[in-house]
Amino acid sequence: MEAELKEMLTDLDTLKRSLPDHPSLNSSIDKMQLRVEHLTNLAKSAPGRRLKVKDMSAEVVDSNPYSRLMALQRMGIVENYERIREFSVAIVGIGGVGSVAAEMLTRCGIGRLLLYDYDKVELANMNRLFFRPEQVGMTKTDAAVQTLSDINPDVVLESYTLNITTLQGFETFMSSLKNKTFCPSKQGIGVDLVLSCVDNYEARMVVNQACNELNQTWMESGVSEDAVSGHIQLLIPGETACFACAPPLVVASGVDERTLKREGVCAASLPTTMGVVAGLLVQNTLKYLLKFGYVSPYLGYNALKDYFPTMEMKPNPQCSNAACLERQNEYILAKPARDAAAKAKKEEASEPDSLKDKINVLDDSERNITLLQESETSLPKSATLSLIASITILMEGFVPSNPEVDSLADAQIRLSLAMEVLDLNLIKQRLDHLNAL
Ligand SMILES: [Zn+2]
Repeated sequence: MEAELKEMLTDLDTLKRSLPDHPSLNSSIDKMQLRVEHLTNLAKSAPGRRLKVKDMSAEVVDSNPYSRLMALQRMGIVENYERIREFSVAIVGIGGVGSVAAEMLTRCGIGRLLLYDYDKVELANMNRLFFRPEQVGMTKTDAAVQTLSDINPDVVLESYTLNITTLQGFETFMSSLKNKTFCPSKQGIGVDLVLSCVDNYEARMVVNQACNELNQTWMESGVSEDAVSGHIQLLIPGETACFACAPPLVVASGVDERTLKREGVCAASLPTTMGVVAGLLVQNTLKYLLKFGYVSPYLGYNALKDYFPTMEMKPNPQCSNAACLERQNEYILAKPARDAAAKAKKEEASEPDSLKDKINVLDDSERNITLLQESETSLPKSATLSLIASITILMEGFVPSNPEVDSLADAQIRLSLAMEVLDLNLIKQRLDHLNAL
């Protein structure tokens, strides 16, 4: 806003110089310049805008924007919360999921956000969270920067209004991910994580291509067209399946998804489902970056049944993506070094002053744990059947890109299914034993 008003002042000045012999017009231009200067002052002193904070403080005072977040450190959940300021996260697609994810990360005090979208804000977006009616017509990236910089001026925001599926867009996307100006000492490329929040497979395949080429970990998210289910997925090049390893039917069949759109019919969307998926995505992001808890490889959400399926997918040795195959080879070659690091970590974890031990000394009231009532612990007999059915539903839509994957994917699903059923049976046996005491 301030920049635009400044431009307007320059334009008025140019106009005045081009009309030296019109005193009455010059007088009107003077008045307009005064009004613009007044508006500039108003914009500068917009209420509620806080000053930047140099260091994250854990001090418990109402004026500290980070006190509630730093409490995670005091309670032993996160070892070093302030590290969040070192991280750069790229969000591709600033729609119903991406915009909410960007807001959550901004409120959490992330170091830097790179925002990519080519679309503009429309009134049809108002059923979702984040964008406001007065932002209609603005690009989604600029509108996001406007809101996010007000919420937390400490976050470095970069707005890229481009389409990553075009040649030029892809080049800018790649070079922006590689840029290490924000943290020159960082290993790898310039970002720590890429979040895909796009609404089409073509763009997902482009993010997949970029991340495979750059060996960059990313998370994919999606909400179904009927607005009642969604998922998040962690993709580590070479270690987990990439998006091309087991592509959805529409990608594997080579059909242009744009031809599948029906005239006058649009996808449904709910702020609730979008909010849940954005929440799951950012939760997984925080756990991944700050190294706490379990980082989900895949987490689904079925709103109609309130069911959250999980699974793991190994990479496909016959993947159609050449960069994916390169990363798979590197991952296999690095196994001895990985095993040694895991061994060293295990030994470190057994040290008496580890974070784990610190957490263990907290009693239940400190950890805010409530014991389940007896009735809440009983597992319905239908749970196992429901699990099998849900995993079957989950895998519908995934088809192998070649026959070899069929047996590979099938074996993985059977294995994870068997593991989950085994776990359920084990839990049930333990509960039965407890009930019998
Ligand atoms: Zn792959």
